[in-house]
Parts: sequence; structure tokens; C-alpha cells
Amino acid sequence: MEQDGKSKIATYHASVRPPSQPVDLVGMDEEELVSLCGEMGEPPYRGRQIFSWLYAQGVSEFSRMTNISKGFRAKLGEAARLETLELDRESKSSDGTEKYLWRLRDGARVESVRIPMKNVNGVMRWSLCVSTQVGCAMGCAFCLTAKMGFIRQLSAGEIVGQFLAARNLLAPGERFHNIVFMGMGEPLDNFDATVKAVRILTHPQANGVSPRRLTVSTVGIASRLKDFVSAVPGVGLAVSLHAADDETRGKLVPVNRKWNLGALLDECRELPMGERRRITFEYVMLRGVNDSGQDAKTLSNLLKGLKCKVNLIPWNPFPGVAFERPGDDRVEAFRRILLSAGVVATTRVSKGSDILAACGQLADPRQVTEKTGLTTS
Ligand code: SAH
Repeated sequence: MEQDGKSKIATYHASVRPPSQPVDLVGMDEEELVSLCGEMGEPPYRGRQIFSWLYAQGVSEFSRMTNISKGFRAKLGEAARLETLELDRESKSSDGTEKYLWRLRDGARVESVRIPMKNVNGVMRWSLCVSTQVGCAMGCAFCLTAKMGFIRQLSAGEIVGQFLAARNLLAPGERFHNIVFMGMGEPLDNFDATVKAVRILTHPQANGVSPRRLTVSTVGIASRLKDFVSAVPGVGLAVSLHAADDETRGKLVPVNRKWNLGALLDECRELPMGERRRITFEYVMLRGVNDSGQDAKTLSNLLKGLKCKVNLIPWNPFPGVAFERPGDDRVEAFRRILLSAGVVATTRVSKGSDILAACGQLADPRQVTEKTGLTTS
């Protein structure tokens, strides 16, 4: 019998339709890997072996999973994908900081930064700063990432992938001692992927870091804070405060119009932080905007009774905005007022500013140029 036009097309499509898309392994947690292996007729320990190959060993080819049979590796190779991030550009700062621009599968680009930090004994340790979104929707006035706008969320695999790819670039025997989620994007605006990535990176079998060596920085989405701290207990939390009054904060950090200082700090007071943990409040210092002695006094009053520390971040400049970085003496005077009011306060030594790798200087240069006309590199 003759087929009508429609069913001919349907038959054609059925015959050329590609097999269903392979699943991405990077970004799967142990439970998901165990259940994927179960679906493929393998015992649970196979999933745990793959977890370790992916994250502890960081292999990028199935053929290197040597304790898994050739037959199953071949099946896995058909059903799943093992992707690593492609390094688009690498920049090296005179202070030893390195910035990586990664190209993602769809062509989007994000940055990570590896930073040499001396510990209290003067021993050099690497920290890694990762991004959680392509761009950012928060619109903070003094941040370069904000200038590219929000493009898309990163998957857990793309967040963890930054760690895996950056770890591959370390010298033999080196490792990351700290991981901070302080790159492009707002982690709590990409809640599920951030939580999943944090859990993978702090998993004892992943060879990442212990929870207390991982810190997530948020603009202060008050409604998500408690859920976040409960989801990943023991992980460091940094909250971007940046001003001691709502008028100033409203101008710098637009989310303050939704959750103002009162609402945010009330939430912070209620957080189940655990015995030894303090919240870090970040405070970007902008000359003539939020750096006066009065601001320091208002800030210390605001934080009374909160188990916290303040981290002052002298503004890292980039072209096209009217802010200025205050002098070191101003920053130190501000810090001393906080200290004398009993508030623990440190100043962040920003690294990598000569290659736009310091806090708030990360972006996809192409996107910034397209959106603002500015050239940043
Ligand atoms: N979205 C997260 C992570 C941002 S980056 C957050 O808002 O916390 C980490 C810190 O750097 C934040 O406190 C952020 O406000 C700050 N920051 C952004 N731009 C900066 C700049 N140009 N100079 C110094 N700090 C900046």
C-alpha cells in the first residue's frame, strides 16, 4: 500500500534519528553513577569506581578506567560522554596568579583563577576560584561580570569541570588547598547546580577539598541562605555586604531592594553555622562611597552580636565606571575602627589585578565589549 506524505516523512525521521543523546558523566554524583551502572546491569561498586576515576583521578578517557572491563567501558562510551573543558586562553600575572578562560560546549565562556596564597607558616598553597554562571543577573554597580549581563546557568558538571581542568594544569605533586565560589555569577541564583558541585568537590572520595576549605560567596539572597547552609553544612559562607546603610547598599547591590540589610542580617543571625564557623561579610571599599569612619562605626553597630568577620576588599578597577579604590591608609583606618569595636576584620590582598583576575574582574571579554563597547583585554 502506498504511504501518504506524512507517514513517509515519519518513517524517514525514524530511520535517521540519532541514538538518544549520551549523558554527561562529569557532574554526576555517586548516587547517580551507581544508578546509571545499575540500569546498565552493573553492581553498585562500579558506580563508585567511576566516581573515583572522574573526580579523584580526573581521567578524561574511558580507556584509562583500568579496573573496569573493556566490554563495559565500550558500553559506557556509547551511552555516556566524558567531557573536559577546553582552554580558550590562559593569562599569567606577575604575582603568580593564573587566569583561565574556558570555552564550553555551546561556545559560552567562563573564567577560573588559580591564586598562590601563603599560609600562616609561609608555605605556598594554591587556591582556585570558580564561576557558577555565564555572566550574572545581580547587576552590582562595581563588578565587571555584571556588565556582561546574565547569559546562562552553569551545570554542576561545568562547575566541577573547572576544578578538574585547572587541576590538570598543576605541576605534579601540587594540589588545590582551597576552593572559592567567587568567580563569575551568583551561586545562590544557580542553587541546585552549586549545591551539587559543592557536594562533589568536598566528597571524601573526590580528592577535592574538605568542606571547611571551600567557601561560597553570595550577594545575599536572603531567602536561600538557610537552605544553602543546611544543604552543605560546614562549608564556608561569605556574604557580600558592601555598605552599612540601605541607601548606599541599594545603589551598589540592586538585590538590596528585595532583601534589605535588616532582612539579610536577620537571616544571617538564624543560620545554623555550626560551632566553629563564622560568616564572612565582604565589604568592597570604594573611595568616597562607603569608606568613611562613620561607615565603619555604622557597620560595627550593625554586626553586633553576630558571629562573623569582615573581609575588606579594596575595589579592583576596570575601565568604564566612575569608582575609585581608596588608599591603603584609608582601608587600614576603616579596619582599625572595626577591630576596636570588637569586629574581626581582615583586608583581602587581591591578586592578579594586572590580568583582570582579581575579585569582580572576571568576564568573557567578548561579551563585555558587545554589551558595553568597552575593551577589557
Ligand atoms: N556573586 C557573588 C560572588 C561575587 S565575586 C557575590 O556577590 O558575593 C566575590 C566578591 O568580589 C563579592 O563580594 C563581590 O561583590 C566582590 N567584587 C565584585 N567586583 C569587585 C571589584 N571590582 N573589586 C573588588 N571586589 C569586587
